[in-house]
Amino acid sequence: MSAAIEFVFPAPAPAALAVQRSAAVFPVARVFCIGRNYRWTPGEPAPTQMPAWFMKPASAVCAAQGSLPYPPQTREFCHEIELVVAIGRGGRDIDAAQAQSHIWGYAAGLDLTRRDLQQQAKQAGGPWEPAKAFDHSAPCTPLVPVATLGHPRLGAVWLTVNGVERQRADVGELLWSVPELVAMLSRSVTLLPGDLMFTGTPACVGP
Ligand code: MN
Repeated sequence: MSAAIEFVFPAPAPAALAVQRSAAVFPVARVFCIGRNYRWTPGEPAPTQMPAWFMKPASAVCAAQGSLPYPPQTREFCHEIELVVAIGRGGRDIDAAQAQSHIWGYAAGLDLTRRDLQQQAKQAGGPWEPAKAFDHSAPCTPLVPVATLGHPRLGAVWLTVNGVERQRADVGELLWSVPELVAMLSRSVTLLPGDLMFTGTPACVGP
């Protein structure tokens, strides 16, 4: 026998992401974002340390369609197009060689950024949440399941703004691979089914 949980007010619906060619949706647990993970200038030396990571709330995830409200408190609202990894099986201390078995699917997403607030945070040594974790800051395309896509080693990630291409890279150019990133994160936190990971943006971010 299990008693239903009695909430003091109706619990909000969980955040969810559409799945390509499916009526079922992916329940979003948390959103992890990887910092700089592509070369932004040619010949840039390979990194020696794993990239930084930060989070957005699950409630920041929205469908990448239609229009979004311009966020408050910024004059520099910036795009960062990224490959998004969806975790289907949780775990901690995941070995990079086993990491793919924890991935449910992939999407493209925007790590939308209030760049002016990020610059202020960097200068002040303050937290990045005001720059990164605002409403509608993580629009994503529908997820494509691994069951149909496999694990893309190559493939273009690009963004156009009003018909003009702004960002383009190939996921093969990721400095730290998807399995390495999953392994890294899982050494720091226990990954949960439903976690999303934005894998970093290529050069030419802009307003
Ligand atoms: Mn980013």
